[in-house]
Amino acid sequence: MKRILVFTLSIALLASFTLFMAAKAQDKKNPDVQADETEDVKPDRDIIPHRYNKKGADAVTKGTTGVITPQISYHGGALIGTPTIYYIWYGNWNQTNGSDNPAGQQILRDFARTIGGSAYYNINTTYSTGGYNINGAVNFGGEATDTGSQGTRLRDSSIGAIIVTTLNQGKLPYDPNGVYFVLSSSNVSESSGFCTLYCGWHTAGTINSGTYAGQRLRYSFVGNANRCLNACAAQSVSPNGNAGVDGMVSIIAHELEEAATDPDPRTGWADSNGDENADKCAWTFGQTLFTLPSGAIYNMTLGSGTTLQRNYLIQRNLKYSAAGSTCNVSLTAQ
Ligand SMILES: [Zn+2]
Repeated sequence: MKRILVFTLSIALLASFTLFMAAKAQDKKNPDVQADETEDVKPDRDIIPHRYNKKGADAVTKGTTGVITPQISYHGGALIGTPTIYYIWYGNWNQTNGSDNPAGQQILRDFARTIGGSAYYNINTTYSTGGYNINGAVNFGGEATDTGSQGTRLRDSSIGAIIVTTLNQGKLPYDPNGVYFVLSSSNVSESSGFCTLYCGWHTAGTINSGTYAGQRLRYSFVGNANRCLNACAAQSVSPNGNAGVDGMVSIIAHELEEAATDPDPRTGWADSNGDENADKCAWTFGQTLFTLPSGAIYNMTLGSGTTLQRNYLIQRNLKYSAAGSTCNVSLTAQ
């Protein structure tokens, strides 16, 4: 009897310790937003960060072709069948550093115009469920500029403020299917951990005040990887000749597909660790890689015609299958 009691107590202690450690790990992985009542957008919960590249630049990893566990599952919430991308250029995108410049902006614009319907984005069609049809289409809804309304040291709450200000000024429309990306120039920091803990994040919340008070907002922060190529880019020589911005493409793709399949974090598709689809394949690029004369590696070409067609190196996404999900670059290739 005594032995059973001791045994039971040990189990209870072990269980509470495990729970404590799990809570700690979660905190570290998902730095909490500094939520307060004065925020322009009140996020539902934590941001979902895109962890940085632990391998450093110039270590393009193919990744496994095996089944990825734990399995991802649907939690009953909303999905965005056809997301519309909106960009807000934040900071100074007219620099002479070879990265924060109009040519760099054009790379991201072309990407936004060609990701929809691509073999890569079609991976997300495997997440259609609950009356939501993710058909592979993506719209580009437009762009606005904010040269620095929140300064050069951003907090998580600054990102919501930038977007709400832009909407209130009528510089972009409010769109319930929109995913609003704040794209910061490389002189701007994000104090919750850009470049040290993550390369971007997405979340959702309800707008607190102003013209769109009460409306839902799905949004993302992605900083120019030129600030920390070794943490937020997979290579320092890139397909479009701008390593920082080419690094951003892969992060934006990742956040976009997570915002579509899990727009209100962890109520759509996520696994038991809270990882979303693209998290499970982060920083892996597939079995078929091409090398340009410059030495830059790419794994896909998006768009067609002389103005829109570009090569990109974009990390893989999880293709859902009830029999076992895998990391893919398209529905048929890994
Ligand atoms: Zn992610």
